[in-house]
Amino acid sequence: NGGGAASPMRIILANPRGFCAGVNMAIECLERALDFFGAPVYVYHEIVHNKYVVDRFKKRGTVFVESLEEVPEGSPLLYSAHGVSPQIREQARGRRLLAIDATCPLVTKVHLEAIKYAREGYTIFLIGHEGHDEVIGTMGEAPGQMILVETAEDVRKLEIGDPEKVAYLTQTTLSVDDANLVIGALRERFPQIANPPKDDICYATQNRQEAVRELASRSDLVLVLGSQNSSNSRRLAEIADSLGVPAHLIDGVSEIRPEWFDGVDGVLITAGASAPEDVVQECIDYLVRNHGATLEEAYVREENVHFPLPKSLRELLPAGQ
Ligand code: SF4
Repeated sequence: NGGGAASPMRIILANPRGFCAGVNMAIECLERALDFFGAPVYVYHEIVHNKYVVDRFKKRGTVFVESLEEVPEGSPLLYSAHGVSPQIREQARGRRLLAIDATCPLVTKVHLEAIKYAREGYTIFLIGHEGHDEVIGTMGEAPGQMILVETAEDVRKLEIGDPEKVAYLTQTTLSVDDANLVIGALRERFPQIANPPKDDICYATQNRQEAVRELASRSDLVLVLGSQNSSNSRRLAEIADSLGVPAHLIDGVSEIRPEWFDGVDGVLITAGASAPEDVVQECIDYLVRNHGATLEEAYVREENVHFPLPKSLRELLPAGQ
């Protein structure tokens, strides 16, 4: 019980966890842009929602902005992995910025679906979290035709004109189970509702959730590495909690509190799609050092997804880079 003479502890390391293909691509984009242009390189919003990643890039001369007015004319500007609205693209053109689009292709997929449904005259329900960067960007594709719904309750309160021509889309990083509740409520109200053939909740979100769902019961405590503003990371902690296993969402080892481990034999460690592996390893080291923990890797699903660098970057770099 606590202290140095703890009983042997097991760490179960969830796979897959951590960086997804979209985050890898966005980070590589920013690294290449810094190498090529030198500092400062501007990024609209956080490149990915992770404190460590953002702080590391700040030290290398990246300037994160919330408004394009902060970016001097003609400067390089990256759009973050979460994507931007067409209004932002327009504004960037107006300021003659060298725009590099690090939007994850799986977010772009949702934008294209929004454009398609909007053109065909649909009213679109976007299931997502109000205020999230991705939601703001997606909503911008069909202003006036898109309605944000967060819960089944929101669906019941909806008042809309033509219930025959409706479609739904979702944010990429939702809880699969929560989204299904909202989708169920939409189907009940609008049996004809259209939706894209392939899920909008991305593979990385689904796989990380599946791993927690499958592995949480083998532990007494779950540590999720990720930032508080990372949607997919928060969902991982919620899933563990909902299964009755206490979970803590932390940015890194410095947030760990020793009393969490009183009477704990098994700790499941996972990481959100924007959390670097270094911060996972530091937590493992902490538990090995302080609790003599042993490490077991648990594989729930293989991932082999890779996204190429965007054309907007490749066109700017010299040939062969
Ligand atoms: Fe893309 Fe999914 Fe990663 Fe978001 S979590 S960047 S949608 S792969």
